[in-house]
This record gives sequence, structure tokens and C-alpha cells, in this order.
Amino acid sequence: MISSVRKSAVTAAVLFAPMLADSQAPLPLKHKPQPTTAAITAADAMTRLYIFADDSMLGRRAGEEGGLKGTAYIEREVRRLGLVPAGDNGTFFQAVPLVTPRVDASSPLAADTDALVMGTDYFPTGLIGIPRSIDGVQVIFAGNAADSTASLSPGQVAGKIALITGNAGAGRSRYPDAVAFMTVLDSAQMPRLRAFGLGGRTRMQTADDTLRSQLTLALVPSAVAKVLGVPLANARPGTLGRTMHGGIRSAFTPAPARNVVAIIQGSDPKLRGEFVALGAHNDHLGLRRAGALDHDSLKAYNEAAERIFVARTHQGTQFPGRGLTQEEIASIHINVDSLHRLRPARLDSIYNGADDDGSGSVALLEIAEKFALTNPRPKRSLVFVWHTGEELGLYGSQWFTDHPTISRDSIVAQLNMDMIGRGESADVPGGGPHYLELIGSRRLSTELGDIVEAVNKKEKQPFVFDYAFDANGHPENIYCRSDHYEYARYGIPITFFTTGGHSDYHQLTDEPQYIHYSHLASIASFVADVAKDVANLDHRVVVDKPKPDLHGQCRQ
Ligand SMILES: [Zn+2]
Repeated sequence: MISSVRKSAVTAAVLFAPMLADSQAPLPLKHKPQPTTAAITAADAMTRLYIFADDSMLGRRAGEEGGLKGTAYIEREVRRLGLVPAGDNGTFFQAVPLVTPRVDASSPLAADTDALVMGTDYFPTGLIGIPRSIDGVQVIFAGNAADSTASLSPGQVAGKIALITGNAGAGRSRYPDAVAFMTVLDSAQMPRLRAFGLGGRTRMQTADDTLRSQLTLALVPSAVAKVLGVPLANARPGTLGRTMHGGIRSAFTPAPARNVVAIIQGSDPKLRGEFVALGAHNDHLGLRRAGALDHDSLKAYNEAAERIFVARTHQGTQFPGRGLTQEEIASIHINVDSLHRLRPARLDSIYNGADDDGSGSVALLEIAEKFALTNPRPKRSLVFVWHTGEELGLYGSQWFTDHPTISRDSIVAQLNMDMIGRGESADVPGGGPHYLELIGSRRLSTELGDIVEAVNKKEKQPFVFDYAFDANGHPENIYCRSDHYEYARYGIPITFFTTGGHSDYHQLTDEPQYIHYSHLASIASFVADVAKDVANLDHRVVVDKPKPDLHGQCRQ
């Protein structure tokens, strides 16, 4: 599941620690794989997840080696099970064109003869496309672009580099003919900007990548004085500065990423042209760039922080947030040394993503295995998509639904699983072995929501559904935070199955030994039953609700 902008992750600090948490009987760190069977079982799920969320998968980040390794495992399995490839060119893979834009920190830049160093004096921000050249272009101080009484007219800055105070966006709209912009940056913010900017944020390739656009450089005050020739305090709108030489070198590096797409043909010749889509995401967060942390300390800290968060929620604070106060941090005990007297530190830098979304990915394999190896098959066909790039911005599901390898109109419903391996009482208030959150099941089709309920009633051990997170305007905004939404925006009815958040969410500690395999397998089994009933229906599930705006912002 992708991070919510509203929720700041609990800061992981090795300084704060223990209180060993209660949980299920501990599972081992490694597990010897056993042959899997046609049935959906906890043992199969365990074998698969200890492979898929192993350190050797490097955190399965989209655009990196780990993402290729994770998808290679899934592809091997669906090929072995005899599914029909439905990716590009007769393969199981659908390439998703991700790129990592990067700036060259050694780009040569000077104001007249005064050299400026990227990351110390300035940093490019919001780089779009190929920047217009600034070599030989003079700087002019244009004032505050948002205030027309304190700035220049658009004509006065045409062909120049506009140094502006205030908002860069206002500059862009006021001065379309400026060659580039300079803004003033508080020196204290430079390290963060540098770390963020040089990291390179992998994203979908867009048409904008080939545009020529206006560069924006954020400058610390001493560099502002260099480009103006005088300190900013001595400048007035219209003050002419120096001429820039050199420029910013940037590049878009392709970041290989792929969906895995596989079909099980339906048994009814008249209906097999229609599909029930089942999905999960194959990617996770990769390696921790800031370095390794001690696993046990991190886990103890995050569990304590989660308990505080849950307690606050129960006290009725409407949306308390996950940041901790100084007192709360102080109340989380304390002494890493005492924990480490019990066992040595285990340094960890790999985001294994066992629950997120290793759990959904192996559940999808278990469902595929069951339908591939047992008869009769459902009347409609099933299409399984393990999406890439979910964590980076739902890119794989966006690409698959924008460029489907089967007819989009032939998809009657999509069932998405993301994080289905937890949901115990220690993880979620009201959690337990039969806990399941449902999101969006009636947002496009009342009938689909009814089918999910009806199938549950027929289960040997029905789930207790939690619809709380499906409420309109819920602050967690989960309807918009996983791959199903990319289908829903095209009017395809969806149901999202999840056991929800927990203290290991997007942490180095989301590992296979903390997964509840019988819970995971029972959810996979249930989703298979829902898929079968939807696939065997004598009509397409009826869409009776308005479709969202295809290109609009998702709203829950
Ligand atoms: Zn996630």
C-alpha cells in the first residue's frame, strides 16, 4: 500500500527501545521451502512468502534489480503452473516505462567568473523535461512574482533569468518568457533538498520529459549575492545581475519494471471472453538509503509507538496522527543496552515487504495454482496481474489499465489484495483470525458488494468484515491508496481486501516471521470463492453507481 501524505511515518530511532511485544509463537527467520499443492494452504503461503520476502529479493523495488528478481519468481511459478501468458509479445511480462530523473552534481555553473556548487550554493527544483539553456543569460531581480506592485512586468524579464522572492509557481505563470528562475532558499534547508534531489525519484515516463522547460534554481543567500553582484537587501526590482555560464546536466535513466500478467481460460465458450481480474502488487520499497538499523530495537520502538497511537485513537482524538510527543517518546522505554544484553544487534537495511504486498502476491499465486490444477474451471476467464510500481505511485496498475493487454471492457470486476497477512488483535483494534477490511465493494456496484457478503455467509468460518475504512472522507483514504482504484476510475467494479495497517507498515521489520499464515490462506481462499461466483454469474455484475472522473483526483 502506498504511503498516505496525511500520515507521517513513525520516526525510527535506535535510541529508543524495548518492551518485547506479545504476539504469536515466534516463527523462524528462515524456512525450508516445501513443494506446494493445488489447495490454498497456510503451508504453501509460508513456503512462497519466505522465498518472495527473503533478503535475496532486495526489497523488490520497482526499477531496480530487486523488482526484477521478485517478478522472475512469480513468472517461474505461473509458467510452471501452465497459465496463459498475457503480457507483452506472448510473454508473462508487461514492461512499465519508469524512469529515474537525475541531476549531475558536478554540473559546471558560474556567475561571471564566480563558480557555484550544486548542493552547497544552489539546487535545481521541480525539474521538468529538458531545461532551456542558461549559458550566457543575464540575471535580473524581479521581486515577488505574486505581488504585481512589487515586481516587474512580464516583458522586462523576457530572455533573462528572473530571480524572484516568494513562490516559484507564481513566477512561472507571471513570466512565461523568462529563460529560467532563481528563488531564495534558507541555507538550513539545503541538506534535505540535496539528499532528496540527488536520490532520484523513480516515476512513470511522461510526454513532459521531452519538453523544453524553464529551470528553477533555489539559491542560498550567499549565492544570491554572487548572481546579483550585490546582497539581496540592496537589490530593487529591475536590478540587473551577472551573466550565468555553464548549465545543469540532467538525465533520465530508464528504470526497468514489469507487471506479471497471466490468464486462466474460462470453461464456457460464450463467457470466456470476459474476465474477472485479480491483483496484488509485486514491488516494495527496496533498500534503506540512510543505512541499516537494529531490527529488534526498531520493532520494539514501533510497537510501543503503535500502542500509543491506538490508545490516542480510542480516547477519541479525531485524527491524532502518528508523530510522538517528547513525553510519549520518554515514556517508551528506553534502554537498548538491556535488550542487547539479551541478544546481539541484528542490523537490517532491506525492506522485505512480507505483508506489503508479499502477502497479496503469494495469495494470488495460491489462487492461480488452485484454479490451474482443479476442475471445473469457472465459466469466465480469470486474469491475474501482479502490478509493479505500486509503492512509487500505482504506476503498474495505471499502465495496465491505460494499456491493457486484454480488452478493458471485457474485465467485469477487479479483486485486489494488498496487505492481508496481519490484522490480529495486536495489529488492529477489533482484529483477530477472522478479521477482514473491505474497501469499495459497493462504490460502483451494489451487486458486487452483495456477492462478497453472500459468499462470506457460505464460508465454513465467515469473516467479520470491517467497513469502517470504507467511509466517505475517512482520513486514511485507503480507497485511493492501492491498485484497485486504477480499475475503478474506468468504471470497473472493485473490491479491496486487506487486514490493514500495523506497526511494521513500511518498516524494515515487515518480515515473514510476523505473518499469520492461516489468516492469509483463509483470505486467499475466500477471494478465490468470490472470483469463482463472479465468474460463474449468468450476467456481468451490474454497475449501478456513477463512475469516477477518469483523469480526476481520487476521492474516497
Ligand atoms: Zn506499501
